[in-house]
Amino acid sequence: MTSVCSGRFSGNTQNPEPSAASLPPNPVDFYDLTLDELTQVLASWGHPPFRARQLTKWLYHKGATDFAQMTDLSRAFRQELAQSVHLYPLPVENCQVSADGSRKFLWRLADGEFIESVLIPEEGHCTLCLSSQVGCALGCRFCLTAQRGFTRNLSPGEIVKQVLAGRRHLPPGKPLTNLVFMGMGEPLANFAALTKALTTITAPWGLNFSTRRVTVSTVGLAPFIPRLGEVVPVNLTLSLNAPDDDTRTFLMPINRTYPLGAVLDACRAFPRPRHRRITFAYVLIDGINDALSQARDLARLLRGFKAKINLIPLNRDPRLDFAPPPQERMLAFQDILRRAHYPVFIRESRGQDIAAACGQLVGASPAP
Ligand code: SAH
Repeated sequence: MTSVCSGRFSGNTQNPEPSAASLPPNPVDFYDLTLDELTQVLASWGHPPFRARQLTKWLYHKGATDFAQMTDLSRAFRQELAQSVHLYPLPVENCQVSADGSRKFLWRLADGEFIESVLIPEEGHCTLCLSSQVGCALGCRFCLTAQRGFTRNLSPGEIVKQVLAGRRHLPPGKPLTNLVFMGMGEPLANFAALTKALTTITAPWGLNFSTRRVTVSTVGLAPFIPRLGEVVPVNLTLSLNAPDDDTRTFLMPINRTYPLGAVLDACRAFPRPRHRRITFAYVLIDGINDALSQARDLARLLRGFKAKINLIPLNRDPRLDFAPPPQERMLAFQDILRRAHYPVFIRESRGQDIAAACGQLVGASPAP
């Protein structure tokens, strides 16, 4: 059974939902700026560097949503800020709750576009699945975001604000500790905004997430893979989905530009902190990539990698021509990889009943 959220979980009275203030002309979006950039902007207005830290403390640590709350700043400075810097929030347009407890949020962006994030409660903590683009341009055949098409990249601030907004909807006793870029879009196709947002998300002056708890999932835009790890040492998930170029190109047209050899070389060049594994995600599709010979090919392909393999049964949808394999085939596929000594898990997607599962986010506005 699913239901529509009635607001935030009861008991969470911190960080009230901000209202969408009217925007001053040509303002800077506070959440687009790193601390260095904020310091420069303020310096250009004649303010000392410590002012930038005061602001990041209020907005990222103390949960302020308005300059008026910043009582240690002079009234004149607060007024100057309110005119030149906007704190436009992500208003919730719609929120659905799954029978398994996950919640899908539809956020309205300042230009009227919509994106989705999914909050997944787990034992003792929550994971938030973030979007990086409005739609997606990559056209993977089994993914509904692809069918929706591409509208635009998200700004760094729009990425960061999904985290701030998600934090306002946490169930009691389950802090938000993990972030995964597995929502709408291809994060590495929006590299500049992604890395800037990751800086704010992981910096002690910002949202202070541990890099060990942030995961970027990619189709494999090879040139950006090593660069990502050089900028921020987050976890990498590669959406592999096939052990050979023909099958992969059929499922993921981007494989024509970056074939398997190039993508795996890029993964080898990813600067991985010691003991960390690269995760290879493999959506299992009946009759397409689930033959046991393909499991053996996959085991061979990943030889030498410190790899973890996540097998994801395809999430069905009438708009897709594909189906997940029968359970026994998935278990046999897993068994072959286990015997090759890979840690391999079959991951049932959460939130399937509210179309919040992998590849189901389309950012549709709610029905009138
Ligand atoms: N573009 C990035 C980030 C999106 S993550 C990427 O592809 O990695 C979305 C994940 O959901 C990917 O691992 C993708 O392979 C998976 N996915 C897409 N459609 C799916 C479906 N119908 N069923 C199960 N998983 C799907």
